[in-house]
Amino acid sequence: MSLFNKAADQDKWKEKYLDLLDEQEQSEVSSRRSEETYKEKEDLLCKTIVRLTIATTGLDPLLDPHLVGIRDQLKNGINSQALKDELEKFTNSVAQIKHTPHQNGSAETDLLFDFLLQQYTTETQQNALKILKKKAGAVAEATKFETPNQLFIAILDAIEPDDDTSAPNIITNHIDIGIVSRQLLLLLEAIEIPSIFDQQAQIAKQLLAAPNQTTTAFETILDKSFKLLIKIKQHNQSEQQDIDKFLSHITEQLAALDVSVMGASTAAIESAENRSKLDQSVSEQMEELKLSSTNATKLEPLKGIINNRLATIAKEIQEHTQKEAVQRQKTQQQLDDLVDKIKDMESESSDLKSKLKIANTQALRDTLTGLPNRNAYNERLEIELARLKRYNSPLSLIIWDIDHFKAINDSYGHKAGDKVLLLMAKQLSEHSRATDFISRFGGEEFTMLLPNTDGQSALLLANQLRQAIEKTGFNAGGTSVAITISCGVTEFTLNDTDESAFERADQALYQAKDQGRNRCCLL
Ligand code: GH3
Ligand code: MG
Ligand code: MG
Repeated sequence: MSLFNKAADQDKWKEKYLDLLDEQEQSEVSSRRSEETYKEKEDLLCKTIVRLTIATTGLDPLLDPHLVGIRDQLKNGINSQALKDELEKFTNSVAQIKHTPHQNGSAETDLLFDFLLQQYTTETQQNALKILKKKAGAVAEATKFETPNQLFIAILDAIEPDDDTSAPNIITNHIDIGIVSRQLLLLLEAIEIPSIFDQQAQIAKQLLAAPNQTTTAFETILDKSFKLLIKIKQHNQSEQQDIDKFLSHITEQLAALDVSVMGASTAAIESAENRSKLDQSVSEQMEELKLSSTNATKLEPLKGIINNRLATIAKEIQEHTQKEAVQRQKTQQQLDDLVDKIKDMESESSDLKSKLKIANTQALRDTLTGLPNRNAYNERLEIELARLKRYNSPLSLIIWDIDHFKAINDSYGHKAGDKVLLLMAKQLSEHSRATDFISRFGGEEFTMLLPNTDGQSALLLANQLRQAIEKTGFNAGGTSVAITISCGVTEFTLNDTDESAFERADQALYQAKDQGRNRCCLL
């Protein structure tokens, strides 16, 4: 029994010991496990960082050395001071990159040139493009193009075809169409576009801005864009030639006038010289007469002398009169010429005045709707603001914007869109007062200046107009399509500038759009 008991005791101890061992092992396993989990996480983190550094290598030369440094330091574990230092350097470099946004731009310009080199392949075009590419990418400011406009003119000069047959080649797939579109869009936005090309430029810009173009579609867009750019350039050149021609004509006229005036004054000088010659000669004769009469002792010879002298004087006066008559005739002729020339110039200048008047009117009108354009709005606003400040009479501004106009273009085509714009212009004009000044501000936006109208009255009027438009609808190939319009209204205060009031009205328009469109908001 005792033996048994002893054995039982021993077993108990054994059990206890084994239990203890188990416990110990358990705790060791769990601590090993948590160590292993940490290690796994660290490994994963390191791997991720290494992958990231590999993926971002080549993005920017400023970052590349740090990316290599980070990869090297990761070998010493994630907590090393050297790694922290590398990461700090990397962060500083990233901050620097933010301030150098042009790096990508020049790479994109290079791409544009690579693309153009594939498109325009005659020897002259190739050579010219290569020279331009070098210049556009030049590091030194002095050798670079000063403005995108200059770059654009130079590109057009380089690719302008010598004859109509040299069309661009088929686009290869090596160049990113998106980048080329963006560059062309930038060029189009940088140049000054004459108002007659406004619409075409709008369309070209929209086409260029559209995402995911197919290669074939892009070829058409590209062709259109370049044709437009070339047309703009030719228009500018012909305008310049006209001005040059007119200036050289005026210079010739002035030179001719100068010669005539010189002639007239020379004639006057000659006539004065003749006169003084005569005076001198007469006084000499008189002097000699005096001398002869003083010295004379007998009457008869004196008579003879006097007669001679008088004959000479009479002859000289006669000659002088003749010369004077010729001279007068010459002067009269020159004066007549002068008058003719002045008349010519007057008629030319009145021609020019009427041409300038037409040009000025065109510059202030929108070609599609015939409404005053943005320039005209700015001119009128200046007058109305001056009136407001002088008489403190109320003045309100409405900015109109057609709702979902893009959808109209997309569903019924750009031409139908244009018709809607015309219809809107008509509606706005018909339903406003004679004193209200309507303009097509741009795209599908119209502005209205309402003199002697406070904000509340302007809002009332705007809502009436909006409802009238809502009722009208648009006939698209037999189906009636509802067109709605929203607006922002504001009243000018004495402290307002043209911009501050415009911003407020724009904000109100934004509210109207945000609240569901087909509404007018006042701010
Ligand atoms: P929202 O209700 O927010 O104003 O939407 P929206 O579609 O009217 O506005 P968004 O600004 O997106 O689109 C305006 C469109 O107007 C884009 C452009 O295609 C079109 N557009 C601008 N000018 C002209 C033009 O002269 N003729 C035509 N047909 N469309 C134009
Ligand atoms: Mg708009
Ligand atoms: Mg709109």
